[in-house]
Amino acid sequence: MKKTKRSVNRRNSLKANPRKSPSGTRFAEVAARLAEIGRGFHARGWVLGTSGNFSAVISREPLRLAITSTGLDKGSLAPEQFLEMDGAANVVRGEGRPSAEALLHLAIARGVDAGAVLHTHSVWSTLLSGSHASQGGIALEGYEMLKGLEGVRTHKHREWLPILENSQDMIELGERVSKTLRESPGRVRDTRAA
Ligand SMILES: [Zn+2]
Repeated sequence: MKKTKRSVNRRNSLKANPRKSPSGTRFAEVAARLAEIGRGFHARGWVLGTSGNFSAVISREPLRLAITSTGLDKGSLAPEQFLEMDGAANVVRGEGRPSAEALLHLAIARGVDAGAVLHTHSVWSTLLSGSHASQGGIALEGYEMLKGLEGVRTHKHREWLPILENSQDMIELGERVSKTLRESPGRVRDTRAA
């Protein structure tokens, strides 16, 4: 997450347009990057139909996120289809309304200091969520690709991904997401790796 944030910042400094406000420039840059990522996810079959939604933090003080408007075909996602919303999920820039899951994006952006939230409906994540739900999460360990995560130097690292029961009550689910993130710091070091 932090890597993404840094690379977006670097792009901003290279492409900054002095005629636009700093926040408007950053919003435009982030929306363009997220639209490109979203189309790529669609091509991989991770966000078929209108499923999934994407957001990234524009600023922390005050908290502002660029987020997809609801009900879009992610195969043709365009930067103009992004909204800017504040920390209470109110739209402050753009046309349309964010997904009902916007509250979950806010909970994650706050809870783990995430720079972006990329919510998909991939077949793999659906199958793995179903098969590991009774354990409350899935441990990823022993994989070489774990070294792609910031600060991880060995395949012996253990990454814990919590799995939560779904709900259509986004306020309740958002509170559960926040509580889960508070209680499980995400990365549980494997003692065998020491
Ligand atoms: Zn969804």
